[in-house]
Amino acid sequence: MHLFTTVKDIQIFLQECRAEGKTVGFAPTMGALHQGHLSLIELSRRDNDITVCSIFVNPRQFDDKKDLDKYPRPIEKDTEMLKGAGCDVLFIPEVEEMYPTDFDNQWSLDLGTLDKGMEGAHRPGHFHGVTVVVRRLLEIVMPDHLYMGQKDLQQFCIVQYMIKALDMPVNIVLCPIVREADGLAMSSRNVRLDETARAAAPAIYQTLLRIQELSRTATVAELYTQARAWFDRPDFDLDYFEVVRTDTLEVVSSLDEYPEIFACTTVRVGGVRLLDNIRLRP
Ligand code: AMP
Repeated sequence: MHLFTTVKDIQIFLQECRAEGKTVGFAPTMGALHQGHLSLIELSRRDNDITVCSIFVNPRQFDDKKDLDKYPRPIEKDTEMLKGAGCDVLFIPEVEEMYPTDFDNQWSLDLGTLDKGMEGAHRPGHFHGVTVVVRRLLEIVMPDHLYMGQKDLQQFCIVQYMIKALDMPVNIVLCPIVREADGLAMSSRNVRLDETARAAAPAIYQTLLRIQELSRTATVAELYTQARAWFDRPDFDLDYFEVVRTDTLEVVSSLDEYPEIFACTTVRVGGVRLLDNIRLRP
């Protein structure tokens, strides 16, 4: 696996690959890797000649400095996992490399309704930071295919919108959520769960499955009522539960009018924010 820390070096390497007619797949991450991340590498390897992974804990997408500081950075373990997964290129830039002094800090993209609800409502500025970093990474790596997880559905929808709005020549691929055996969605934050919280956390997915089942017959209003009742547990602190259409991420009033509908939730368990979602339509 080739390891690069500077923009110049990775660009020279990838230019040569492209000159040889090789296709490039790219999975951006913040490290603390798990099987969910490795599934993106696996999907990229299936479709491309060269697979690039980046590890960059992007300060611009953290509204909470404490959260940024305590974000895990097990870089040696990550490197070994990527080697084992057959990743070809690892890009690990420092903050100064990603955001040099002459970086355009003025750019921003109007995301309309996409960043108003859910994570956007709970983490001011978060998705602006995400668009800034993903745009920068895409301009550096210039991949043919970009692999991003359904786990962060709002992030996926926003990046998909940005790629279209900026007319970037990259195909974005939605990758399924990888779960622990008991259903808990894998996340770098799961290591922060204490024993009690870890035991409670799988109930998030179990609840989403019940919601999915109920959505065959129920109205949206009934889904919200049931979801609130099911998430109302002493060990859960519900940040939100929303039933949204993926094109605008607006809350739907009916389950039949829109092409794609997901139920999304974030629950605090033992003080750790856990995100999950499930497809309701089609
Ligand atoms: P992160 O390092 O948390 O920024 O995540 C990097 C990428 O991995 C994002 O596209 C995530 O959506 C994706 N990802 C995170 N957790 C999972 C999971 N459990 N299954 C599949 N993809 C995931």
